[in-house]
Amino acid sequence: DSKQSKMNVLMLPWLAQGHITPFLELAKKLTHKNFHIYLCSTPINLKSIKKRITDKYSLSIELVEIHLPTSPELPPHHHTTNGLPLHLNSTLQEAFEMASPDFSNILKTLSPDLVIHDFKPSSAQSIASSYNIPAVQLMTAGAAVVSFGSHMFNHPDVEFPFPAIRLHEFQEKLFRQMVMDVARTAKEKQSTPVNNDQPPCNITLFNTFRELEGKYIDHLSVTGDKRVVPVGPLVQGIVDDEKEHSEIIQWLENKGEYSTLFVSFGSEYFMSKEEIEEIAHGLEFSKVNFIWVVRFPEGEKVEVEAVLPKGFIDRVGVRGLMVEGWAPQARILAHSSTGGFVSHCGWNSMLESLFYGVPIVAIPIHFEQPLNAKLVEEVGVAMEVNRDMNGRLNREEIAQVIRKVVVEKSGEDIRMKARNFGEKIRRKGDEEIDEAVEVLMQLWSSKAPPPPRIRKRKK
Ligand code: UDP
Repeated sequence: DSKQSKMNVLMLPWLAQGHITPFLELAKKLTHKNFHIYLCSTPINLKSIKKRITDKYSLSIELVEIHLPTSPELPPHHHTTNGLPLHLNSTLQEAFEMASPDFSNILKTLSPDLVIHDFKPSSAQSIASSYNIPAVQLMTAGAAVVSFGSHMFNHPDVEFPFPAIRLHEFQEKLFRQMVMDVARTAKEKQSTPVNNDQPPCNITLFNTFRELEGKYIDHLSVTGDKRVVPVGPLVQGIVDDEKEHSEIIQWLENKGEYSTLFVSFGSEYFMSKEEIEEIAHGLEFSKVNFIWVVRFPEGEKVEVEAVLPKGFIDRVGVRGLMVEGWAPQARILAHSSTGGFVSHCGWNSMLESLFYGVPIVAIPIHFEQPLNAKLVEEVGVAMEVNRDMNGRLNREEIAQVIRKVVVEKSGEDIRMKARNFGEKIRRKGDEEIDEAVEVLMQLWSSKAPPPPRIRKRKK
């Protein structure tokens, strides 16, 4: 059995799309480095994960079921009844925490060499440690947001290398909650009691890379308690023979190079009627082609046309394609007809846009998204849509930013930067993964990780 000669890693991502993807992509990369992976999730999530594991990986990525003891299992990328995004759904979080005994059994049965876990369940470290298995967290948010949290709540004395961000009142609460949570978990994890044979693990894997977040990685190395090991960008892979959604790709085939916008606000957020209306008018005024994904809470029977401005569909005609629910985002961003991404600035979306070289029209909503928006603006590949004093979107502003990013001469620099950056990332090898593999192997063999260190950024 080839498993015997390999390092066996058990992965347990949080049950949201934006977490499963980076775990799965890391799993794939590790299989190329002689790792065997157990990818652990709920049956419903595994069903969709399975579709994304091609034959090439089917032997080295083994799917393992974990069962939530309470609450009906929620389907992936759907909202819950209390209207909160999955992340804040306390029922699901509690259920996931309560699956800990099952997690413990899985570890006992499979006895992996290493666990890679998420921000939940909070007991992941200590359970693994009770079996003397080293465990590291994979951070699915960027280093900028985590270092921002660490700066605000733990080390306000250390200078922060970030430009000021302006938050609107409606963004403030979830933003604070998010950065605080991140900062707090980092602290808690540090003080988690572990068994005596094993020192607490002082490594965190991050879905990021130095060319993008070098200075934040360095900041964290100074203020954080753990060594940051970047393993990104972990972006959704494209399955070439994907039959699903082929009509969208077909539609895109008939558009000119860089002519089309992809408009999507992630897997968790639902736009208000007012937001939909402003965006619709903005898209219409911009005169640019677009694919727009709209989503509605499960169980709400909504006709797409009913929420759009009257006559919108007819007026935009062949210029626009409305998609309800879900679109193959990575495939669309990778397509040569795509010339811009109107995005809510979720971390995965940012990495995918950067990877495929697509300039960004940033419309951050909440959580750490305003910070992500600033980061990609700082890199020079994005422009944020300003909101009015009350935090509302404005159609003219949306149209103007779209035109600048996709069409006007004044946005040439943004477009070029995005394309060049994408090319550079796609060309670069798996240096980061190689470094991470080295660290993980060390962790496994000595079960005591090396101390944190700061690496000079490469130019
Ligand atoms: N996604 C997709 N199709 C959609 C919406 C989202 O493939 O219609 C994927 C997207 O490519 C990304 C993830 O879902 O990998 C969303 O993660 P992100 O961090 O951008 O936002 P979140 O959903 O967490 O708000």
